[in-house]
Amino acid sequence: MYFDVYLNRQKLGTYGHPTVENLTISVSGSPEGAYIFAGAVCREGEQRYHYDWLQRDLRASDEVRIVPADEGPVVAPIKKFEMGRTKRKAWAGNVCEFCQRKETEVSRLIPGDENRPGICSDCVELCNEILRGPE
Ligand SMILES: [Zn+2]
Repeated sequence: MYFDVYLNRQKLGTYGHPTVENLTISVSGSPEGAYIFAGAVCREGEQRYHYDWLQRDLRASDEVRIVPADEGPVVAPIKKFEMGRTKRKAWAGNVCEFCQRKETEVSRLIPGDENRPGICSDCVELCNEILRGPE
């Protein structure tokens, strides 16, 4: 299942997956503002993945069009998580937003979401050292 998303008649991209279980492309709003979101739960072999492709603030005048599409090329996800396992597999697309290293390059990454930046265990340790040090 695939959809093309257009913002003010300009194509943002094609979002979808060949084995989608649940695909969400939405425009959400609150008094603070509106945004468009694209994400999905997909099955790849035995494993399920959560994809986030798009999260973008909208202006009041923006026009969004969502059109069913044929297969890809699909925009690369901004986040991809393996689901249903206690130990999440590292993915190079997840980065520490403090030191910019990939999840595959750090010992542990606490993944970010739309409200918090991702941070690696080394940066957490550095922050702890700074906080423990002289004021
Ligand atoms: Zn880091």
